Amino acid sequence: MQVPPFDLTEQLHQLGEALEDAVLQVLRSGQYIGGATIARFEQQFAEAVGVPHAIGCNSGTDALVLALRGLGIGEGDEVITSSFSFFATAEAISAVGATPVFVDVEESTYLIDLERIEAALTPATKAVMPVHLFGRPVDMERLGQIAAAHQLLVIEDCAQATGASWAGRPVGGWGDAGCFSFFPTKNLGAAGDGGAVTCRDPQLAARIRELAVHGMLRRYLHTSLGYNSRLDAMQAAVLSVKLPHLPGWVERRQQLASTYRSELADLQGLLLPAAGPGGHSWNQFVVRVPRCPSAQAGCGGGCQPSSDSATYGLPESCCRDWLKQTLAEAGVNTIIYYPIPIHRQPAYAQLGYGPGSLPITERLTAEVLSLPIFPELSSEQQATVTAVLRQLVAQPLSLAS
Ligand SMILES: *Cc1c(COP(=O)(O)O)cnc(C)c1O
Repeated sequence: MQVPPFDLTEQLHQLGEALEDAVLQVLRSGQYIGGATIARFEQQFAEAVGVPHAIGCNSGTDALVLALRGLGIGEGDEVITSSFSFFATAEAISAVGATPVFVDVEESTYLIDLERIEAALTPATKAVMPVHLFGRPVDMERLGQIAAAHQLLVIEDCAQATGASWAGRPVGGWGDAGCFSFFPTKNLGAAGDGGAVTCRDPQLAARIRELAVHGMLRRYLHTSLGYNSRLDAMQAAVLSVKLPHLPGWVERRQQLASTYRSELADLQGLLLPAAGPGGHSWNQFVVRVPRCPSAQAGCGGGCQPSSDSATYGLPESCCRDWLKQTLAEAGVNTIIYYPIPIHRQPAYAQLGYGPGSLPITERLTAEVLSLPIFPELSSEQQATVTAVLRQLVAQPLSLAS
């Protein structure tokens, strides 16, 4: 049996007709940009996040850019964030002319280490951008205290965490702005690119709306240099069909995560992600392969060093790479999020973060592996994943003998 890391077939089987009806309705209406379909989705999404305003836009990346611009962050400003994320997190900060400042992550959560933020502050620090990586919410109460103490704006990167919450309150409703992606593999995926910014401040919402349409205050009056970044009506129609299913999908992801955690708990060669707080939405289930996972692998002596490790000055990843390759040969397809941390990317060489500058982040990139997790993953498929892992990864001696 082949187990893919992500698959839409079953979801299309379940929702196909409703999606086709919704798209066809937009197609026949002739209203593709703006209009009631967008307004309706924005309102539904704002309600789901528990804020008064949601502004649709072209992508999660654009949501970050629009939020930063809307909050007045630009040239000369620094934004503290984590380097263990998708590149767009930092790219958006740079796109508005500001500088990303990376602090290391917490090993147990993969999230920005809140206790390291204060050491990274400078007079230029304007904001902090927590990333709810893999769907796990950052402790927004503690972050809020730090931000308030230093008058920092908070822009949440919620791209992987639609449907997640901290202390019972959805992510995206804690900071000054929340930025969401509707990329197809995210928890709420469109049939293409899409994103949204959420916020409470009506003036900020109005500024972001203007920026998303060429800085246009009213028709053909431009008060700032903005962007062409809109959510289109077909995507909004698709998202409106899917949104009511989000809580159930998140629940299923939580169930799959809990099964992985119990089925794999005794494997000595794997470090499992912490169960986390209740509001974890498990966009990814990311295990770590910290050493040679089995006697078969022979990583200690023999396996092929990874070329990325040498090129980008990162810890050796051959144990993880061996497991990924061997799983793939057995039909279990996994993904590495992310093999090269942002601060070691060639595009950020000028920032000067050398090898070893963020040691936990760097070690994680050499060890992480994302197992298949999506709501439609069947229990049979999951059992295949755990069975194959149990064959490949050493178990404790007490069980093996
Ligand atoms: C996906 C993602 C983004 C960007 O979203 P797009 O819609 O692909 O532009 C930003 N940050 C994180 C953490 C992401 O995972």
